[in-house]
Amino acid sequence: MAGEPQADCLFCKIVKGEVPATVVKETQTTLAFQDINPQAPVHVLVIPKAHYPDAAALAAAEPLLAADVLKTAGEVALQENGDKGFRIVFNTGAGAGQTVFHAHAHVLGGRGFNWPPG
Ligand code: 5GP
Repeated sequence: MAGEPQADCLFCKIVKGEVPATVVKETQTTLAFQDINPQAPVHVLVIPKAHYPDAAALAAAEPLLAADVLKTAGEVALQENGDKGFRIVFNTGAGAGQTVFHAHAHVLGGRGFNWPPG
């Protein structure tokens, strides 16, 4: 069923505490933790605790939960990166580079960024 934990999902295992992660913020509905392979001085992943395969599926099924993820992402950016600019990225689908199919926002900061992105 939509939103239910998936036994084979890495990020569901992090939510359950079965896989360790460095958590920087937790809310009732979201979890934020350090990316294991950071691409910037600040690189935090923000996920809904409930399982949705990507950001578009999350927003379609649970728009308020998608808003929670964005709210936590902004709070994490302020907490980890101060008032400097930051980037929020949702890789959506394998063709866009998504490798973990549990919706997540990348919060990236602490360096400059190019546009268009690679
Ligand atoms: P995606 O490529 O799906 O947009 O992002 C998945 C992210 O998850 C990658 O940036 C990758 O480094 C991160 N990641 C993969 N495995 C783990 C893990 O076991 N722990 C943590 N904290 N991050 C992970």
